Amino acid sequence: MNIALIAHDKKKNDMIRFATAYSEILKNHKLFATGTTGLKIMEATGLEIHRFQSGPLGGDQEIGAMIANNKMDMVIFFRDPLTAQPHEPDVTALIRLCDVYEVPLATNMGTGEVLIKGLQRGDISWRNIVRGNTENTITD
Ligand code: PGA
Repeated sequence: MNIALIAHDKKKNDMIRFATAYSEILKNHKLFATGTTGLKIMEATGLEIHRFQSGPLGGDQEIGAMIANNKMDMVIFFRDPLTAQPHEPDVTALIRLCDVYEVPLATNMGTGEVLIKGLQRGDISWRNIVRGNTENTITD
């Protein structure tokens, strides 16, 4: 599965703890991240991660493009709900695209743990079928 990992600055330590705790699961998947999040996770865990631009410089949009092309299977996005973000429109757009394409999305650690355990159990293997069908038709 292709998994995206993103954390706002005040949530980066949580993301590092999360990725460390679940590195044995994550290492079996293809990992993507925004720039700084990816760097910090790689330094802390040794996991191999494809890094996009930093979030405020377009990284969220790059991950959004993967979703729109049906190439992202899960998004773990630890948002900071208490701090204004300069790229708030990108954050909203990313979350919206997850809903458009029904991509499993966790925006906090609690849901992240549920998703990662589901990933390990094979609960999102349906994504293999969805990904096989890349025809997306807009009808209205
Ligand atoms: P960053 O981006 O990983 O480059 O800090 C995350 C974000 O703020 O969207």
